[in-house]
Amino acid sequence: MRIKILDTTLRDGEQTPGVSFTPDEKLRIAKALDDLGVDIIEAGSAITSEGEREAIRMIANEGLKAEISSYARILQGDIDMAISCNVDSIFLVAPTSDLHIKYKLGITKNELVKKTLNAIQYCKDHDLIVDLCTEDGSRTDVRFLSKILESATQYGIDRFTLADTVGILTPEKSHDMLSKLAKRSKVPLGIHCHDDLGLATANTLSAVKAGASIVNVAVNGLGERAGNAPLEEVVMALKVGYNCDVKIKTKKIASVSDLVERLCGIPVAPNKAIVGDNAFTHESGIHVDGILKKPETYELIKPESVGFRRRFVLGKHVGVKSVKKMLDDLKISVSDEQLKDIFKQVKFMGDKGKKVTNVDLEVIAHSVMGIEVEGAIEVDELVAIAGNKFTPTASVKIKIKGREITESATGTGPVDAAMNAIRHATKEVPFELVEYHVDSISGGSDAVVEVMVKLRSKDKIITAQGAGSDIVLASVDALVNGINLIMRRIS
Ligand code: MN
Repeated sequence: MRIKILDTTLRDGEQTPGVSFTPDEKLRIAKALDDLGVDIIEAGSAITSEGEREAIRMIANEGLKAEISSYARILQGDIDMAISCNVDSIFLVAPTSDLHIKYKLGITKNELVKKTLNAIQYCKDHDLIVDLCTEDGSRTDVRFLSKILESATQYGIDRFTLADTVGILTPEKSHDMLSKLAKRSKVPLGIHCHDDLGLATANTLSAVKAGASIVNVAVNGLGERAGNAPLEEVVMALKVGYNCDVKIKTKKIASVSDLVERLCGIPVAPNKAIVGDNAFTHESGIHVDGILKKPETYELIKPESVGFRRRFVLGKHVGVKSVKKMLDDLKISVSDEQLKDIFKQVKFMGDKGKKVTNVDLEVIAHSVMGIEVEGAIEVDELVAIAGNKFTPTASVKIKIKGREITESATGTGPVDAAMNAIRHATKEVPFELVEYHVDSISGGSDAVVEVMVKLRSKDKIITAQGAGSDIVLASVDALVNGINLIMRRIS
């Protein structure tokens, strides 16, 4: 069965608290979605602002394969604005629950039906494809929904979508409502779910099982509150779990997810299905061993099929064969003697509770093999001051590949100020600090501290350490070690 994908990253997704795209960013995302194979792109809500209309217009005029849609309420003004953007279709939203009709619109049910049909008529007079979406549909009596569906079909709607606006559905309820609608419907049915109970994907699939053939999704599960059904989850579940036909080039899922993550600034959780950093990372020795023998032992989806690469993190349970395989993957060839040494160091780090990533392994291997890798960055001078009478400030003088750079910054404390100063001085290196962690090894105020930083650069996560009795220097050390690793990777 062919299921159509309606992506609402640019409309509902942009309603995620704190997310706002520029018209250029919206166009970039729309092109990526089109390239991915999305059938319908809900590009925004034309009534919102001039900037929003500019974005929708650019997307509509780009000549993409996907159908371009604008959200509109059942108001002529909204529809006129959408028409001015040259869209193919209207995602026409009519609130249908008693709660919404009475308290939000302050009208009667009959008036609601009349307004809805008038709006459909107006769209149809302008040759637009109409997807009638019932807002808060999941809290609406199915008989009333069927009545609207029937009349709206006579007025020429092309699709009918049930919206679970507040995320109250369960898979059973979703199945039940869609089955009832499917029995009567002469037009394709869509489903729009929210993740308030963590059930958006399950409810979407359940609706498909009951007869829906259009799924509303958003990349990385963006959307109002807990978000919409995530594109990556719904698409892969449809393919892997239900054997459905979707027109998505799944190999591009990783890059689209990454683009949206970068442009919206909302990081994807590491344990997020399909697109999280850990989704294809294996750590336990038993799992790694199994994967190396046959990936299917512990992998449902081939990482390459969604554009990812498998990652191993070595812990204390690691076997020598896994270390050898990882070195082979890194194209580092070692003698048996060197392998034994490397293995010992990995085990030693594992015993101390450390996780060895492939970047760490590369560093260990290089040190065992006696390859001196010169850091690209050296810290020449560092001053950080703190106290209760002024803003914590730091200045640094560093050398990047021999070039001298002096920078200063303020922060919430001396560590933050020093880290910020380093960050300013290394602007040219693309990375983001995702984790900062301090451990004190001994007891007193003169204790040696160990600092661990985790940096993200493109699709790579790099961990680096620094240690010393001065927390500012140890932190800067860890950060600079990390940046050096990144620079070596990209140079
Ligand atoms: Mn929504």
